[in-house]
Amino acid sequence: MNSPQILRNFTSFLKNPRKFILFFGVPGSGKGTYAALLSKSTGFLNISMGDELRKLIKTAETPLFQRISEEIQQGKLIEDAVIFKILEIQLQKSASGVILDGFPRNVAQMLKFEEKHAINLVINCVLDEEILVEKLLGRRSCENCGKSYNLCNIAKKGYDMPAILPQKSGFCDICQGKLVAREDDTETVIRKRMREYAEKTAILLDLFRKKGVLVDFAPKRGVKDFPEFFAKVVKPKL
Ligand code: AMP
Repeated sequence: MNSPQILRNFTSFLKNPRKFILFFGVPGSGKGTYAALLSKSTGFLNISMGDELRKLIKTAETPLFQRISEEIQQGKLIEDAVIFKILEIQLQKSASGVILDGFPRNVAQMLKFEEKHAINLVINCVLDEEILVEKLLGRRSCENCGKSYNLCNIAKKGYDMPAILPQKSGFCDICQGKLVAREDDTETVIRKRMREYAEKTAILLDLFRKKGVLVDFAPKRGVKDFPEFFAKVVKPKL
């Protein structure tokens, strides 16, 4: 990039800085669904760091990508240099705002990010632990096309999350593939993932709460809560 272009970009940034919205929440809390819905209604770029990494390791079998693949399988954090390179490439896409899911994962990432960008809103998707376990145990997906279903019907403690059933039990509506549960969706592993998530993110959530940008949100009725969420939580910050 030449100097006049850098100056133009900087001037336009000062006039109209991009909005940044971050999503936090354990797997199954609805954050991915809400991030996607929000991206649709605002036109903001939606970057899921986990998805980007998974796409990346499918593209080539270099030693670096092989190592990243192993680290993801072990649940280890990928080195910051890789994460910030992905972010840099993604942020070149034009959009008036950006939704980040899965970033930052630690304080170092947060601080480095904040050297360049202001975070407008952090949404912490919270769900009652027992409900989450039930929901994840009912989760099924087609082993052929990946379409998701849920066998569990939750209607208690203010939650209203109807089952998403296939027309023919055990088989996908779209391609008739077999419906399977994820290997890591067992009660012991689910509770371990939740504990690990809480331990790792507690400090980040505390910091965002102190800055006054964090909002806790419980999507108790799944996607039916999105319109109210958009009007009450997001719109005032746009
Ligand atoms: P997710 O789909 O968000 O659960 O992420 C899947 C895996 O990708 C994580 O367990 C990490 O190995 C890696 N990952 C995702 N986001 C980050 C990040 N911000 N920093 C480091 N590693 C990450």
